[in-house]
Amino acid sequence: MKFVLASHNKGKLAEMQAVLADLGIEVVMPADLGIYVDVEETGETFAENAALKANAIMEASGLPAIADDSGLCVDALDGAPGIFSARWAGEHGNDAANNQKLLAELADVADEDRTAHFHSSVVLVRGQEVLRGDGDVQGVIGHELRGSNGFGYDPLFWPAQTPGRTMAELSPGEKNHLSHRYHALKDLASRL
Ligand code: IMP
Repeated sequence: MKFVLASHNKGKLAEMQAVLADLGIEVVMPADLGIYVDVEETGETFAENAALKANAIMEASGLPAIADDSGLCVDALDGAPGIFSARWAGEHGNDAANNQKLLAELADVADEDRTAHFHSSVVLVRGQEVLRGDGDVQGVIGHELRGSNGFGYDPLFWPAQTPGRTMAELSPGEKNHLSHRYHALKDLASRL
């Protein structure tokens, strides 16, 4: 069965396509169906926002849909930016401004207190059926941007599993096997 994959974020879309293909799940992009839906993320949790996106795409396409909502949760900032990760510095999707804000907010925070995790909630809707998967990746926030792969906060995030390298210094294949989205999609696939 094919699913429509709901996301406007190209970095995220590429990662989700790769992971879902690995899991044997075929997806089609809304744009391939001539569908352009802008969903307001009014939920209070990652899961609520993912469900809003998946439902909107299912309604527009008449096909089963999968959507992800994800973000960075920093312990020293009480979990911020969280669901506001994409628009933390004001403009939606301005990665450079978001990273500068993160460095500024953590300027006085000691190394041992710079722990954080990425979270992803993915929701699949198929008629009345709603399935959800969740995943995290733990790490710490660095003091400078390093690496040019990935997107978003990747250049500042040092995954616990890859000492000495930021998420942006991992190859796409490496990131796709440890990321929060990978774990969330695997969790979802186990319920399919
Ligand atoms: P969403 O598209 O509304 O789910 O927002 C996701 C935002 O969270 C992105 O714009 C990034 O700022 C951040 N984010 C989510 N996943 C990642 C990731 O894998 N690497 C870096 N930043 C991420």
